[in-house]
Amino acid sequence: MVVKKKIELSPEQLTWLRQAYKDRLHPEQMAAHLECHVDTVKRLLDRHGIRIALSSKHITTDQPPPQWNRPCNMCRCTESRPKFQYTCNRCKSHTRDLHHVHEDFHAY
Ligand SMILES: [Zn+2]
Repeated sequence: MVVKKKIELSPEQLTWLRQAYKDRLHPEQMAAHLECHVDTVKRLLDRHGIRIALSSKHITTDQPPPQWNRPCNMCRCTESRPKFQYTCNRCKSHTRDLHHVHEDFHAY
């Protein structure tokens, strides 16, 4: 018997996801935050009507994405990068195909 894993979001996570979508976070970053697969995030966005609701609204395109200076999980540098990106671009490119960064998310 195959058990299908279905992700259910708490109200807090759902609120976060809506806001994250509004802030135009990359689905990859949403997936990292919710600790699920990118495809799952896309399904969640559709299931909760977030993608549809927002695309029908007028969205301004000249707003820069939010940034933060959180110390990089890998090298601790504090250069600006998109919010909820936990490693700097330099480290990110090194670990693009690895997922072990994931496990450190809750340690900080
Ligand atoms: Zn780094």
